[in-house]
Amino acid sequence: RKPIVAIDGPAGAGKSTVTRQVAQQLNLLFLDTGAMYRAVTWLVLESGIEMSDEPAVAELVHQCQIELIPQQDQLGVCINGRDVTAEIRSTQVTANVSAIAAQSVVRESLVKQQQAYGRTGGVVAEGRDIGTSVFPDAELKIFLTASVKERSQRRQLELQQQGLEDISLEQIEQEIAQRDYKDSTRSIAPLRKAADAIEVQTDGLTIEQVTEEIIRLYHQ
Ligand code: C5P
Repeated sequence: RKPIVAIDGPAGAGKSTVTRQVAQQLNLLFLDTGAMYRAVTWLVLESGIEMSDEPAVAELVHQCQIELIPQQDQLGVCINGRDVTAEIRSTQVTANVSAIAAQSVVRESLVKQQQAYGRTGGVVAEGRDIGTSVFPDAELKIFLTASVKERSQRRQLELQQQGLEDISLEQIEQEIAQRDYKDSTRSIAPLRKAADAIEVQTDGLTIEQVTEEIIRLYHQ
């Protein structure tokens, strides 16, 4: 049986970086499910169809092909052959992704792809519903949290490092709180800690410390 580690949590809890490092150290595949929802959102924006036009979004999602390409220090993301690794982190995609992720057809299609990915090898997967619905049988489930303040500061630093946009901390805080609210109140697979998940509170901890803690729990 291929090992599966599920890492869920709210926006900006450090999931992506931690998950990538855990995957590297355990020699497992890294599955960033948020990147898939972001790629679909980018495609919807690019194609000019309305976010709320569910039949049109459904058609787009059924026809699209998403590839996750492990690279040295990040995960490359392609949709329909186009590299959108940088584009999917834009504020426009971030502002619209929750609306796309709340649509049942989108979730059904992406969850199927995520589960198929899990059959190709052992994975460390991160998202909002990994432990509750994508891989409910995962051997280790982590729920990563941090205060809104800490998460906003991390997000701001990340955006600055990527040289993407200069946004005020208040704006980021608002965006994160809004996204948490949308993600945890939607009707399908809302953001929730699985009953058997271990909560890891990361305020004041470095990426290395959190990674180490997860590896320790994995070997326990
Ligand atoms: O983790 P990230 O910030 O990239 O996720 C972007 C958005 O994708 C989330 O705010 C959420 O709306 C959606 N998402 C989801 N289920 C997942 C992963 C992400 O609904 N498993």
